[in-house]
Amino acid sequence: FSTTQKMIIGVLALQGDYDAHRKLLENAPNVARVLEVRDEKTLNQCDGLVIPGGESTTMSRLCDRYELWQPLQEKLQSGMGALGTCAGLIMLSHRIDGATKNFAQKTLDVLDVDVARNAYGAQLDSFECDLKMESDIEYLTTDNQSLRAVFIRAPRITRVGEGVEVLARYDGEPVAVRCGKIMACAFHPEIAGESALHELWLRALKNHDSQNDTSQNVI
Ligand code: GLN
Repeated sequence: FSTTQKMIIGVLALQGDYDAHRKLLENAPNVARVLEVRDEKTLNQCDGLVIPGGESTTMSRLCDRYELWQPLQEKLQSGMGALGTCAGLIMLSHRIDGATKNFAQKTLDVLDVDVARNAYGAQLDSFECDLKMESDIEYLTTDNQSLRAVFIRAPRITRVGEGVEVLARYDGEPVAVRCGKIMACAFHPEIAGESALHELWLRALKNHDSQNDTSQNVI
């Protein structure tokens, strides 16, 4: 991308709160269009994809039903950027600790972290907080040092692989991570109308592609 060229961003729109992401992205400066992705043809038009929060088991099943799982994994492996929130983090991860017994839940395996589903408690244990960003990223250290986060039946990140950067912690545990163009968080920034992570991710997409980075999202 040149610095002025705008991107086409997809939001996986099979289940979950994809609409809140669409609204946030439509107001972002580097985005030309936001597409709701439900088929391979639309996926192929995207420069990056948001995988929203929702229910990761349902979303994976729907990906299979819509014949999207394999194209999605291939696109990610060949370098498409992704931002996963909550269930989206689970889908991008390497391994799920304590996966449901009667459903062998697979992952896209493009972000080298392990996760434990629902480890921050049930729906009733949902909470909101302000997170301090760990990263010294210039953009966030000026006027946007903290991030409003909503945790809903959130996954815990139980292992962070080498080369994966921790962007924010809650109670000392990583809750937002990044590796190149793949970023993920255990909470919902979009519910709080929080766009800092989206903007950070869009910058990563632009920077990587304008540097002509040919590295792939393979761990
Ligand atoms: N508990 C959900 C799952 O395991 C994630 C919850 C969410 O996305 N808010 O997929």
